[in-house]
Amino acid sequence: MANVKRQLRQANIGVNEIPERWYNIIPDLPEPLPPPMDPPKGESRLANLPKMLVKECLGQEMSTAQWIDIPDGIQELFQKAGRPRPLFRATNLEKALDTPARMYYKSEFFSPTGSHKVNTALAQCYYAKKEGYRRVTTETGAGQWGTALAYATALTGLKCTVYWVRAVHDWKPDRKSYMELLGAEVYASPSPKTEFGKSLYSKDKKHPGSLGIAITEGLEDAIKNSSDTVYCLGSVLNHVLMHQTIIGLETQKQFALFDDYPDVVISCLGGGSNFGGFAIPFLGDVLMGEKGKPTISGNYKKIKFIAAQSQSAPNLQGEYKYDFADHGEMTPLLKMYTLGHQAKMAPIKGDGLRYHGASPILSLLRYKGYIDTVAYPADEKDVFAKAKLFIQNEGFLPAAESAYSVAAAIDEAIKCKEEGKAKTIAFNISGHGFMDISGYRDVLGS
Ligand SMILES: *Cc1c(COP(=O)(O)O)cnc(C)c1O
Repeated sequence: MANVKRQLRQANIGVNEIPERWYNIIPDLPEPLPPPMDPPKGESRLANLPKMLVKECLGQEMSTAQWIDIPDGIQELFQKAGRPRPLFRATNLEKALDTPARMYYKSEFFSPTGSHKVNTALAQCYYAKKEGYRRVTTETGAGQWGTALAYATALTGLKCTVYWVRAVHDWKPDRKSYMELLGAEVYASPSPKTEFGKSLYSKDKKHPGSLGIAITEGLEDAIKNSSDTVYCLGSVLNHVLMHQTIIGLETQKQFALFDDYPDVVISCLGGGSNFGGFAIPFLGDVLMGEKGKPTISGNYKKIKFIAAQSQSAPNLQGEYKYDFADHGEMTPLLKMYTLGHQAKMAPIKGDGLRYHGASPILSLLRYKGYIDTVAYPADEKDVFAKAKLFIQNEGFLPAAESAYSVAAAIDEAIKCKEEGKAKTIAFNISGHGFMDISGYRDVLGS
């Protein structure tokens, strides 16, 4: 047949090549990960963990095994969610920027609910069902996590209760309907459903709420009904990042098809789950390569890792110390980069990036000098203008959070042009912006 050599614009692996194990970076970290701790006063938060979390997830949280098998049932769920997701070469964007850089983006925007969060939601619900639970509870801020969990409960036959920060709940009626179509019960938080919620709601029926309040409601509901109900968390924790490594492990196989490998790895970072999921297999390559060990992908290069954040919540520029993961101080203390667990953060459209702390794993790697960070102005004009350049060249609309990843990739490509360097830039697009269009309109005016 004709011997036409087409340029690859997209690379994907087959359904039967979806990675069968998650990568747990903990044993490869440059020093032991500081464990979660109890605060000096009050009841033990650590002792409460088994009442709050799925047993298998708690085991994974502490595991020092380098690889953990993905059960067949979860692999089937990943297939149903449309995995694997392709890696694209951003050829039009490269041309528009007139850059010598090669730019590649991972398409987590093909998620059925709009974000990468389905990857861990499916895993957590699979284990919850197996352990005999009938219902899961959670909090949500921007709404992506609540939708992902509602989706995962629909596929695994569980019930779902979502406590949603009222200030966001009230302006996203479409996303609420989406969660309800998937079968979830959704409450604006603070709600009259829990004792803690009632204490605030009874005084102010329009209380705007906060992530901390919503977490407290979700935990109270789960702990009071612990015979058949369990709580699920969408970011920050070790097991959540490990579930997300499916993103980076797929990406490594796809880079092999392109016969390329990144010099720069970029994603946006709120609590760290999409950045971690994308970057950790590459961080593993670096850590193993430095020690002269065989690497995951077979490559070893000094990679530059960039976490894109907002100046509204630049947690990686905070202090590296023990802090609570929630406003209400119900969780154990985690060693992480934090702005303080009761810090005030200006509202932004990329609401999923507005969290006070960064995952302990990524915090340690930043402390050791492996991860760089950039924080964009909170008016988001620069970030959304770059996302607009992306959609006008590549055709995909990033989520407001993912726009930060796009902006950082564009900035690196511009630097490559200035320096005349043909670097390979890999960036993750954690979700689509179909439900964030009003955010783009508000910021860009069109
Ligand atoms: C939640 C979310 C984020 C931020 O959370 P991480 O845990 O840091 O990934 C980023 N992008 C999208 C689309 C999200 O839904």
